[in-house]
Amino acid sequence: MIGGSSGRFSVPRCLCGVQFVALWVCLVTTASAQTNADRFLTDEYTRSHDYDLVHQRIEVGGFSWDSLSFDGRVSTTLVVRRPDLADVVLDAGRRLEIRKVTQGKAQLGFDRASDSLIIHLAHPAEFDDTLRFVVDYHGRILQGQGLYFFNAESGRWGRQVYSGGGTDGNPNWFPTYGGAEDKLTWELVATVPRDLTVVSNGRLVSDRPAARGTHRVQWAQEQPASSYLVSLVAAPLLKLNDRWRGVPLAYYVAPADSARARLVFGMTPGILEVYARLLGVPFPWAKYAQVTVADYFGGMENVSATTLADWIPDRLALLDRPWYTQVLLPHEVAHNWFGNYVTTANWASYWLNEGFAQFMVGQYWRVADGETAGEDAYLSDYGQYLEDDARRRMPLAALGSNNIYPKGSLVLRMLRLELGEQRFWAGVRRYLTRHAFANATSADLQRAILEATGDNLSWFFDQWVYRAGHPEFAVAAAYDSVARTLTLRVAQTQQDTLHADSTGLRYNVPTVFQGRVAIRVGTPAGDIVRQLRLRQGAETLTVADLAGPPTMVVFDDENRMLKTLRFDQPTSWLAAQAARAQNLWNRSWAVGQLSGRTSDAGAEAALVAVARAGSDPTVRSLAAQALSRFPATVALAGLEAAAQDTSAMVRESAVRALAAIGTPDARRLARAAFARDSSYAVRAAAVGTVAQLDSAGARDVIVQALATPSYRAMIQTAALAAALHTEDASLIPVLEERLGDQPLVAIALAWFGSHGSAAAVEALGRHRTDERPWVRRWVDAAFRQARLSPDVSAPGSGD
Ligand SMILES: [Zn+2]
Repeated sequence: MIGGSSGRFSVPRCLCGVQFVALWVCLVTTASAQTNADRFLTDEYTRSHDYDLVHQRIEVGGFSWDSLSFDGRVSTTLVVRRPDLADVVLDAGRRLEIRKVTQGKAQLGFDRASDSLIIHLAHPAEFDDTLRFVVDYHGRILQGQGLYFFNAESGRWGRQVYSGGGTDGNPNWFPTYGGAEDKLTWELVATVPRDLTVVSNGRLVSDRPAARGTHRVQWAQEQPASSYLVSLVAAPLLKLNDRWRGVPLAYYVAPADSARARLVFGMTPGILEVYARLLGVPFPWAKYAQVTVADYFGGMENVSATTLADWIPDRLALLDRPWYTQVLLPHEVAHNWFGNYVTTANWASYWLNEGFAQFMVGQYWRVADGETAGEDAYLSDYGQYLEDDARRRMPLAALGSNNIYPKGSLVLRMLRLELGEQRFWAGVRRYLTRHAFANATSADLQRAILEATGDNLSWFFDQWVYRAGHPEFAVAAAYDSVARTLTLRVAQTQQDTLHADSTGLRYNVPTVFQGRVAIRVGTPAGDIVRQLRLRQGAETLTVADLAGPPTMVVFDDENRMLKTLRFDQPTSWLAAQAARAQNLWNRSWAVGQLSGRTSDAGAEAALVAVARAGSDPTVRSLAAQALSRFPATVALAGLEAAAQDTSAMVRESAVRALAAIGTPDARRLARAAFARDSSYAVRAAAVGTVAQLDSAGARDVIVQALATPSYRAMIQTAALAAALHTEDASLIPVLEERLGDQPLVAIALAWFGSHGSAAAVEALGRHRTDERPWVRRWVDAAFRQARLSPDVSAPGSGD
């Protein structure tokens, strides 16, 4: 699962915290109140239950978009795993009204206890007995919990209903066992209006007309998987067919999206090919469908039928390297192996699903586009990890861990460097084959690596998986010009200061991280590379017989260790590192150091040089951003060059940075970017910059931008922000005309209203009775959010 937004560097926001609250709060409170690494090595967090769920036939129909309800009938087959079993307990959301439970011709008694359904068997069952029973029910849904009912909107999408899936969603629409560790096969049979296409897991069995303008569609998932991967989508979809190595691929999209969908989803066979080659494990499922729906937050890897947001980029949007293609699609494809084929046994090892899926994104780009493209993905994860870690420092393997996506990805990247390419993939292959169609814990991964490579990585798993934090290095360099010797003092400064939480759990942080790093020293006679094995909190490295004073010192040359680094260096060393260090993290770190030296002309010159001709778009973009903090005279030259870069990301950074340069040249460049640039992101940035540089003179650009269609309305959204920035009330009639475009237009009008504009409140009030239902909804929401009263301020508009 993954959620996110459109920004290139807006790394997906991990939604697991939200998804998990209900599930793990109840589990964590039953856990004993201390922590140490050992507890995560085992199945401590795996749920107990009395049976093995074998098969479910899930029949749903009678969907009502008005009452958010439907009828369900679920036939369950399970094998009893204890003698003398009197009751079977299923997970079933409390809003499901159970009508009856039958076993053959007999009715069974049942009770409800919060989100459980307790079925009383007619006679106690014995160990190994197979039971079959049927639950008939009427499902009522709280919007988005279990199922999402969508009404037609904006003329783009018709009505639809789909399941959210994920870790606690499915029991809200059918009784099942929700734990990840019990795998089953299933059939899904849905009866829906004939204009809706039904997509679910596995193989399409039949699609037949049924009564009253409906059809009855049956899918069968014939290989075992966890119940949180069951999917139902019923929507007005167009199916595009594709194929890879004999596996049927399908892309289900809104008919209006078919052209852009071919282009974007056309990358799927390439991703599958890269993964299949790296993993050496065949694609496990009957098909791979990617299904787009309205109003979805990101993606969910429902087995063989991934559900995705409908933010399919068009040809121009691809210039901006959107999150959808950079991260979402490769992440979800990776779940075919990681998560769906081998599934975490419990939520304390959830990083095995999400960390691997996120790690594979970087591997895809590394193979497809080169080493730097891979490092770019991991740099993005690094930024996200630091944010998560700053909020709360937690281990990877912990219930409700907040860093499973980015830290999982970065730890696997380190593991690959530690083991080397061949041994790493051999270990991963062992992990996948040993636990095929089954479950695993963190300890199972460690064991698979041990078996495949003979390498006992207890130390690695202990510090990176079971314990929290990362090394915080403080490095100092001293050069003795007489002895021509460089001395590096390397200290790990992280402290173990974490407190126990309300349940008594306390995580700890290693005060010494083990590992090795390479130090690259630039000299007049070429580079020297030395290895440093880290064993203690303070280490010293001496590099003797240098040809002359160092020109550059790169700590951790390959970026082998997840870390933060304090290392005060001469500007010339940093300039050299920013220009030519081999690893992207090291180059970007040097740019970051230079960007703090705002009164150092050497730093500014170095940043201008990187912005103009840096090795890759990421460092050029970072350098352009940094230049906004430097004096305009020199910075402008760098930004002017960066504004002409071949990469849209660099141009966008340059145009944003121009906002800090208050010269006529900066205004001219920003206006030119809005008028002529091909990229949506650059034009959106330009609107903001023009408004910031020239509040009074920005109206023409804002008006034009409000009417400019773009991917995910990013240009219009930038124009709305600019309108608020300029506080230009003459824009209110223009905004009113655009009310049907997106919800933020009503929010912007409400903002003007709450800042004293009666005209804005009246304009909004007029649309409380708009003939477009979605506009009425957006307007009402805007009134509520701004706490405006429509009836008082706009007489006659209330009803
Ligand atoms: Zn995921």
